[in-house]
Amino acid sequence: MLDTVTAQTDPDCVFCRIIAGEIPSERVHEDDQVIAFRDLAPKAPVHVLVVPRAHHRDVRDLAGDPQLLAHVTTVAGSVAGELADGDFRLIFNTGAGAGQTVFHVHAHVLAGGTLAEREM
Ligand code: 5GP
Ligand code: ZN
Repeated sequence: MLDTVTAQTDPDCVFCRIIAGEIPSERVHEDDQVIAFRDLAPKAPVHVLVVPRAHHRDVRDLAGDPQLLAHVTTVAGSVAGELADGDFRLIFNTGAGAGQTVFHVHAHVLAGGTLAEREM
């Protein structure tokens, strides 16, 4: 079984493959710790995924690296400010029962429009 703390990438993981450049994505931010790219199936005018380069399964695992978790939230705010008016909703689906389908932690940044009237 993959050890999500010590193994930094998983060759079978779609987001590791996007990070490696093997699958194309529309990147809106990248640095040495995270990348951010537009969701394939947007649920808001701006729908971006902020993804740590290191393969952590979900936000429970990411909480083991508080600095990296904080960086994900900082990048989320920057993206919302650059691509929309700065207001945003931040969602970590955690576990299949909560709708998580890609088991490489990612923050959904939803922004633009009137989000209060929308469901995710
Ligand atoms: P989850 O359901 O795990 O919280 O979110 C996974 C998200 O990844 C979904 O919103 C889905 O549309 C998006 N997604 C899945 N595969 C790809 C892909 O290959 N490229 C991009 N840009 N988004 C993807
Ligand atoms: Zn991965």
